[in-house]
Amino acid sequence: MFSDLAEQLSIRERQGLKRHRAILDSKQSRYVDIDGCEYLSFGSNDYLGLSSHPALIQSACQGAQRYGVGAGASHLLYGHNIAHHELEHALARFTGFPRALLFSTGYMANTGVVTALVGRHDAIFADKLNHASLNDAAILSRAQLIRYPHLDLPALERHLKKTKARRKLVITDAVFSMDGDIAPVSNLVALCERYNAILLLDDAHGFGVLGEEGRGILFTENNLSVCGSKVLHSPNIVYMATLGKAAGVFGAFVAASSEVIETLIQTAKSYIYTTASPPLLSYVLLCSLALIERESWRREHLFRLINQLKQKLETSGLRLLPSNTPIQPVLVGGVQDVVRISEG
Ligand SMILES: *Cc1c(COP(=O)(O)O)cnc(C)c1O
Repeated sequence: MFSDLAEQLSIRERQGLKRHRAILDSKQSRYVDIDGCEYLSFGSNDYLGLSSHPALIQSACQGAQRYGVGAGASHLLYGHNIAHHELEHALARFTGFPRALLFSTGYMANTGVVTALVGRHDAIFADKLNHASLNDAAILSRAQLIRYPHLDLPALERHLKKTKARRKLVITDAVFSMDGDIAPVSNLVALCERYNAILLLDDAHGFGVLGEEGRGILFTENNLSVCGSKVLHSPNIVYMATLGKAAGVFGAFVAASSEVIETLIQTAKSYIYTTASPPLLSYVLLCSLALIERESWRREHLFRLINQLKQKLETSGLRLLPSNTPIQPVLVGGVQDVVRISEG
């Protein structure tokens, strides 16, 4: 029955593409235990070290005491807890949008937003290096999908000019999850305003890390200074970020205008047809958000470490791609080389 699967797996193995999961026997931290050995970790997205912060662990225990361990139902039934509600308000305030909505994961947030905002008669314009969840979301929506070369805004503009689609949605990683480079957000906002398109910004790797007090890509100096606060307040922006990376916990949220958020509540299938995330996680995230906002030294330390890593890698002769974010691509050759090296 499954012989074809077995054959494909063995081909994958022969090509040196088979991946294995390292089994961690410790918290996510500076050092992690794998197979009884201790390693210095460069492989997590826990950028601020919050996932094992004692205050968050304590609030997880408190949250469990207060709300139990499971939400017990979806948000539109009786699974929407006051902890979810308070976190949504806090996230809206923190990111400067009228409203915010929690999703269980970033993957689900992206499929929910894209399928709720566009359909058959619409068009999506997507950067070629976008995260897989944005690509899948686009396919699921059945809108026409046009992928433009990485960061090629003139190409994007040509497509926007030409399209006859009813509704237009531009989707992009804010910090690209493979190369660590950053999308030119203020130019994208200007383009979207000119052509009446929605801009979905996936700031999975920027939230907590970039901008004033870790408020994300929209609060970086570049975006704040280019047009004053215009970028921030563009009604065309739908902002999405995850809570399992720098925020150290789990989940994701979308922040946008009231109309967009209400549309998501009413129609996004990955919001409606799934159990709400455990309220204790939202309870912990309120604490995490306060630390992100208050403890700027975590970001300062992170960027010192990024610079130190870049310098050391460069002086040891490795080739890096230009990136000023915690994602530091090291060029090592082909796909097989990458798998071989990462398998240690
Ligand atoms: C990690 C990531 C996601 C998915 O978020 P999860 O909460 O882990 O599902 C989405 N987009 C980008 C760019 C990511 O890096």
